[in-house]
Amino acid sequence: MNHPAPQATSHDDTLLATLSGDDRPGVAGELLAAAAATDATVLDLEQAVVRGQLLLTALLRPAAGTAERLSADLRAIAETHRLTIRLVAGRGDNPARRTGRASVVVIGAPLRATGLAALTATIGEQGANIDRVRRLSRDPVTTLELDLSGADVASLRRELALVAAANALDVAVAPGGLARRGRRLLVMDVDSTLIQDEVIELLAQHAGREAQVAAVTERAMRGELDFTESLHERVKALAGLDESVFEQVRAAIRLTPGARTLVRTVKRLGFTVAVVSGGFLEIVGPLATELGIDHAHANQLEVRDGKLTGRVLGTVVDRAEKARALRRFAQTEGLPLSRTVAVGDGANDLDMLAAAGLGVAFNAKPIVREQADATVNVPYLDAVLFMLGISREEVEDADDAADPQTASLDSSHV
Ligand SMILES: [Mg+2]
Repeated sequence: MNHPAPQATSHDDTLLATLSGDDRPGVAGELLAAAAATDATVLDLEQAVVRGQLLLTALLRPAAGTAERLSADLRAIAETHRLTIRLVAGRGDNPARRTGRASVVVIGAPLRATGLAALTATIGEQGANIDRVRRLSRDPVTTLELDLSGADVASLRRELALVAAANALDVAVAPGGLARRGRRLLVMDVDSTLIQDEVIELLAQHAGREAQVAAVTERAMRGELDFTESLHERVKALAGLDESVFEQVRAAIRLTPGARTLVRTVKRLGFTVAVVSGGFLEIVGPLATELGIDHAHANQLEVRDGKLTGRVLGTVVDRAEKARALRRFAQTEGLPLSRTVAVGDGANDLDMLAAAGLGVAFNAKPIVREQADATVNVPYLDAVLFMLGISREEVEDADDAADPQTASLDSSHV
């Protein structure tokens, strides 16, 4: 808005009041009542309370001829509440915020000062300014969100990723402002991301074919087989199994802690959620339905006369197909790729993580950690919410409002 500034009556036309000390109820109210009594204008008002300590700043423009009276009234309030007060006369508002807004989320378990100091030093070297800091979570992981201006997201991502890796921190850099709000598409890998297991290994275990599958996995790890070859080889080892194995494996799956919280919370925000898996739709499909996930894409096992044939139906969901699926889902939902978030742990998630607006490497292999926009190395999937700027308190409040029972189920998770 472009209201013309009133004519200044003297060189100094604004008063910055900073009050600090033990928090008492009503301090901001009294300050505003004093400002109102002299018909002052409020240009800015910010307050933070950390473990009972108040920090309150008000940037006021006193009405003509009232600056001294207002100052005296504010001092009296501070004295009554035994607060420290600092009054600085000046001219005009805060300098306009520079362009290049970005949000940096930093997760530490614990959050060591050394790492945070290195991070803020790098932010400074990059020419960015920290405008505001907010805590998003406390134990067992501490998360801070830093709002920056004057930032270049691409170079900050690159530089802060190095600092994060060197200091055992998780860091996500995202464009700030409106880009951070509104509906998005969240696409997750399944094996070792949404769930703690690898579905093919569970299938092999329940079929007593662990040795055969492990032998193929071994060859794939040695680089003798690519993903598609190794998938075909491993599925071949499942030939002849009764399809009732699907039911047994579905019952054996262990969700990653925080998985339900993540899905439930982003659904409340109107997100679309999808899973894309190199595993099998027979397992992933019902799991997605149970969690309220909108889209599921995975390999399909051929079944004939109630037995697995050892063959895969249709196109194999590999690294490239995972990225194509993310693009398809985004298109279906009418969302640009910048509004997509992908989460995965394996090499076959790399294309999908790169295609997404924000690619999060979740307790990932080193090669994935190095290439992703952001890392989460704590064992809680709902830490992804912090990367999106959603605080633990906001998650809990939403749970309490909806259904007190759901909240208590997940209270052990972040
Ligand atoms: Mg995986």
